Amino acid sequence: MLIDENNKQAIKAIEIAIQIIENYPAFSTTFSQCSECKRNSAKGGMLCTSCLEDELAEIVGCQKAKEFHDNVKIISGRMVN
Ligand SMILES: [Zn+2]
Repeated sequence: MLIDENNKQAIKAIEIAIQIIENYPAFSTTFSQCSECKRNSAKGGMLCTSCLEDELAEIVGCQKAKEFHDNVKIISGRMVN
């Protein structure tokens, strides 16, 4: 498939999705302040899940971004328990 603008958006969405997942690590890791909102904690200088969800929402829409984030929370919760 050719790389066009839609593909770039799709790739960006996947990259953000991966970062959201990485904010729910299976093992304890270093968290610091979010570089965007300066309010929430975020893994190793990345954005917090709230800011990442906002970024993802710009590409896939608020509903899909929220659904994805909710699913990550559920899955990570299951892995912990
Ligand atoms: Zn943030």
